Amino acid sequence: MSKRQGRQSSGKRNSSSSQSRRRLHIPHRSRHVPDSEWRRTYPGPVPPQWQEIAEAKGFSIVGRVRDRNHVVLRCRACGADTVQKSFALRTALPICGGCLETRRLQDAAKCGFTLLERDEMHHKYGHYRLPCGHAARLQFGRVERLAREGKAAGRAGFHCPTCYAARLSSDAAARGWTLLGPDPEANPNYRSYRHDGCGHTQRVAIANMITGRFGCEQCGTCWSAAPSEIYVLAFEVPKKGNFIKLGYSRDPESR
Ligand SMILES: [Zn+2]
Ligand SMILES: [Zn+2]
Ligand SMILES: [Zn+2]
Repeated sequence: MSKRQGRQSSGKRNSSSSQSRRRLHIPHRSRHVPDSEWRRTYPGPVPPQWQEIAEAKGFSIVGRVRDRNHVVLRCRACGADTVQKSFALRTALPICGGCLETRRLQDAAKCGFTLLERDEMHHKYGHYRLPCGHAARLQFGRVERLAREGKAAGRAGFHCPTCYAARLSSDAAARGWTLLGPDPEANPNYRSYRHDGCGHTQRVAIANMITGRFGCEQCGTCWSAAPSEIYVLAFEVPKKGNFIKLGYSRDPESR
């Protein structure tokens, strides 16, 4: 977005129209076309029936640009200008680039994100600043859902990929392992780790790395071999009386 603004200020001024000074939104399918093409007015009147269609769809046609097939639509709601094919105007409901951008900025704000810029490589993605300060490339649709639904019950919502990776790394380090990357079998609940003790690499469930309930497939250092503690548990069984359980566990807190 900032890119487009920059281009606009340095862009060639068109002789006749005031449109050249206004920001012009270009649909993503046409973004490969040089900006100068859109600044070139097409000589010819706007057919009255096109204007009628535009009015019915919330726009007014303020000019024709590039060639006989393109018009500039001014949005009645926000006043922004968007280029459209006259064919698209007649057959579909055109999207206002200004309204779309405002919606995306609002969605980001609702999530506590800042939309930095749109991804120039993929029209469905944008670059965001997250509350933790890290930047992330996210799908617009995903941010829109998150803004609409919030963190749905039972779902993780969204966590910063950078912070999350740092947490998984420190969880692993606490067990004597190093986080290498995603699971080679592509299970989102697993990661690839290296055992610091012997250098062996294997996939481990994230939950097991946190609790330590797994073993090294090479050197055998594992959960059952880890140091354990004796524990005493007192409990009551209805109609049978009071019992004391004497046990041996690596993680007595979990008993
Ligand atoms: Zn608009
Ligand atoms: Zn972060
Ligand atoms: Zn090992």
